[in-house]
Amino acid sequence: MTRPRPREDSRPRKRRKGRDQCAARRRDGEQCLAPAVEGALVCRRHGGGAPQVQIAARHFVLLEAHYTAVREWEEARGTPAEFDALCRWSAAERDLFEYEVKLVRLAVLRARVKRLKAEAVPSPVAG
Ligand SMILES: [Zn+2]
Repeated sequence: MTRPRPREDSRPRKRRKGRDQCAARRRDGEQCLAPAVEGALVCRRHGGGAPQVQIAARHFVLLEAHYTAVREWEEARGTPAEFDALCRWSAAERDLFEYEVKLVRLAVLRARVKRLKAEAVPSPVAG
């Protein structure tokens, strides 16, 4: 069995600003005090409920979990906790991979819809 290697691009980007508090500004110019959606920069009221934001936020959460699992495994190397850390890393890697496969499928479907819309003959009624 070969030992899995950490992914080169597994370090999640820093999102310190929006992690706990929405990064959006209110109409009065003050910062929104609502909590940001997990993995996103904004709260639900400021776009955190939009599908594209939720998709990106979920991806970020999985990336972060994977990165954390890799770090924990590296710290646990040579200790009795190594195997459990390796199992958590493996699970995080699987979850991230499965989500990224979904993202690719989504992109393929979106491209297909775009192509079909471009090919569609305009309706004489809807004109
Ligand atoms: Zn907000």
